[in-house]
Amino acid sequence: MIQETYSPEETFCLGEALGKAAKPGEVYTLIGDLGVGKTVLTQGIARGLAITEPISSPTFTIVQVYEEGRMPFYHFDVYRIGDVEEMEEIGYEDYFYGEGLSLVEWGNLIEEILPGRRKEILIEKDLEKGFDYRKITVREVG
Ligand code: ADP
Ligand code: MG
Repeated sequence: MIQETYSPEETFCLGEALGKAAKPGEVYTLIGDLGVGKTVLTQGIARGLAITEPISSPTFTIVQVYEEGRMPFYHFDVYRIGDVEEMEEIGYEDYFYGEGLSLVEWGNLIEEILPGRRKEILIEKDLEKGFDYRKITVREVG
């Protein structure tokens, strides 16, 4: 599925639809350059899960857990981890194979421990189509 958005609000809405459709135990990876809209999309996903508290970037923690929505939301950012061992230390399997939605920013960096079945979300800019244009590709893997 390829979607094109022309504003942060549209990207948020797309995230909201993804969050509403999410099922317990799913794992999404989210890839895209700095400033492309990963946090905007993630905030939409959280809204779609009926989470009302603000979503911050899990910069110092690898994973941020939100329990108040219609299922737990496990928000990972693995951009800075040096080794998948750090994922083992935090017990990632309990999240990936648990009852919530896992969203892994920069999930491609830990490819070897990702579940075979997952959704990949890629956000890209195309400056020829305008500063606020984003191409968002959602692909089922496995
Ligand atoms: P990231 O988390 O990928 O670093 P952010 O979500 O924090 O990026 O920031 C995206 C920035 O791009 C925000 O300032 C947002 O307002 C802006 N923006 C402009 N157009 C869009 C769009 N179509 N979708 C998402 N964000 C957009
Ligand atoms: Mg971000």
